[in-house]
Amino acid sequence: MSEGDVPIPRPRPERPEDQVAKADQLQNADQAASNMPASEAGAACADCPAGFKLEYKSRYTEQGQQDKTPNRYTKEVWVPAKEFIFLIGQDRKLTVRTNPPMADAEWEVKPIGSHSGTPTPNKGKGAEFTWVPKVTASQRPVNGSKQRNKPVGYEITVKLTRGRSTTYTEKIEQDVRDIIRQEYVDYRSLPAKKTSLHVPYRDQIVPAPRPEFLNANNYAADKVVLNSGMLQLLEAVEAEYGERVTVNSAWRCPQRNKAVGGVPNSNHQHGGAIDMAPSNYNGIRGTQAGRTAILNLYRAALRAKDKAGGRMVLLEKGKDALQTGNTDLPKPDAKHPDKNDDGIRDGDAATLSKLNNASHVHIDKEPPDGGKDD
Ligand SMILES: [Zn+2]
Repeated sequence: MSEGDVPIPRPRPERPEDQVAKADQLQNADQAASNMPASEAGAACADCPAGFKLEYKSRYTEQGQQDKTPNRYTKEVWVPAKEFIFLIGQDRKLTVRTNPPMADAEWEVKPIGSHSGTPTPNKGKGAEFTWVPKVTASQRPVNGSKQRNKPVGYEITVKLTRGRSTTYTEKIEQDVRDIIRQEYVDYRSLPAKKTSLHVPYRDQIVPAPRPEFLNANNYAADKVVLNSGMLQLLEAVEAEYGERVTVNSAWRCPQRNKAVGGVPNSNHQHGGAIDMAPSNYNGIRGTQAGRTAILNLYRAALRAKDKAGGRMVLLEKGKDALQTGNTDLPKPDAKHPDKNDDGIRDGDAATLSKLNNASHVHIDKEPPDGGKDD
């Protein structure tokens, strides 16, 4: 029998004096661990089946870490699989190691689904192993979708040959925040470079603060949205308008934005735009009451824009702006009376038509952080 085939010995039953000694060891170990940086703690891993654990490292967020926001790192740190944050594409590297280090470790990395790309290389030897997931356009489609993207994942197998033979496998998989962030990498990596999208920070992806933000949202089941100011815009408009409005479209992930024909750089993708209508608008659109309601909402949005740091307000029919952005519709005055008191100049057919046709009011703000990202 070769050395490599020797099974891992099972621990012998403990004697009382061993238990006392072990308790002391644990206490010492706990003390030592609490003084150690997280990346070095737990080197002697009592919980791991093979006596070691796997840890992972990737490229992390560079901006904004000074504030110690969770999931923004000042530098690359080693973390367990369940905490691993990673994106692929644009030659991002992923690294795994054994803790404690095992120089004889033999590695194999398998993608979970073709959308996870091709790990390059997919095999190696040593205490650390680094691979670059190579992705093609067909593996990471950017044709638009109204479905949630799948997580990128890998199955990591490590085999130890020296002293004891053991094989251990675990999986790493993107969580919903990284699934969403990965869409931005995919779209930004387009060969044609049609977008200047930046990758949002993880802490901008939050539980939906209003349930209507989950309408027309690929991640409705996850109940999360990217919010970079859309809530403040909405609340500012409602404060001016005097009542709650209907949200037709709020944050759109890049796949959703593409699927609904949004412009490539749409601010809806940054979580800084809202399409909204009066609450009962479907039933009254094109009537006197509908015209008054949408006109009041448009004017409320124009006022809210200035108060809440907005960039653009549009009166739209679907994707088409009916009125030059940020400009009011003509108001009645001494020269242009409004005898029927509907807020529109008598005989102003152009304004009447815009208000009859409008489907919603759009408001947005500048993308956050000047486009800085991970
Ligand atoms: Zn819009």
